[in-house]
Amino acid sequence: MLDLFRRRALARSSMGSGLARFWPGQCAFCRCWCRGPLCEDCEAQHPVDAGPRCALCALRLPAGTRATDAMRCGRCASHPMPLSRCVAGMDYLFPWDRLLLGLKFGERLEHAPLLAARLSRALELARVDAPDLIVPVPLSVQRLRERGYNQAHEIARRLTLPLDAQRQSRLCALTLMRVRHTDPQAQLPLDERRGNLRGAFAVVKPVHGQRVAMVDDVMTSGATLHEAALALRRAGARDVQAWVVARTP
Ligand SMILES: [Zn+2]
Ligand SMILES: [Zn+2]
Repeated sequence: MLDLFRRRALARSSMGSGLARFWPGQCAFCRCWCRGPLCEDCEAQHPVDAGPRCALCALRLPAGTRATDAMRCGRCASHPMPLSRCVAGMDYLFPWDRLLLGLKFGERLEHAPLLAARLSRALELARVDAPDLIVPVPLSVQRLRERGYNQAHEIARRLTLPLDAQRQSRLCALTLMRVRHTDPQAQLPLDERRGNLRGAFAVVKPVHGQRVAMVDDVMTSGATLHEAALALRRAGARDVQAWVVARTP
């Protein structure tokens, strides 16, 4: 069944990128006519920013904070995320939120290559350790059936890593499963989000002793990544990091 969803999504995405070669689209930011989701000018105006972020949840830290691997935000200093590292490609702000919302809710699969490229560049700047497994954060079967694709997988499969990391890391989409359908997190207050997700994830392929990087589109409270990381650690993963396209400020 999952294969059927993936084939449908792939057909849609390759049709989209195929058409985009001939058909001009509109830049998502300035609305000029161009081929990609962003025109060249807008891309140049929004370089990947390598400002300081919390090493464990990628929350932006005040400008001027000296960037080190050991940096923590206030929350992670007292309640650290069960991650060894978290990298974000950008803040979840206008106008990037439009591209992410389009990918997640509007079947705009043509936004995935640009968003994956931004995250790839952030990973390169952050010099992350290459994992053994790259695992997209899964949707429940019910949500996958409604949407037809998993936006996290669409990002993960387009990431480009440095060559040696690429040789080392395998994309394993069906390692982590969402075994319980939950209410959308955005509708819940922050303090209820983790409770809503307890027991939502199961690890269905061996990860014992492996270094895993989870990929997701947006990190808000971190509750989803927190629960997914716990499931991977309980299954014996040696190291768990998170790579997200955007982090809410
Ligand atoms: Zn533009
Ligand atoms: Zn933090």
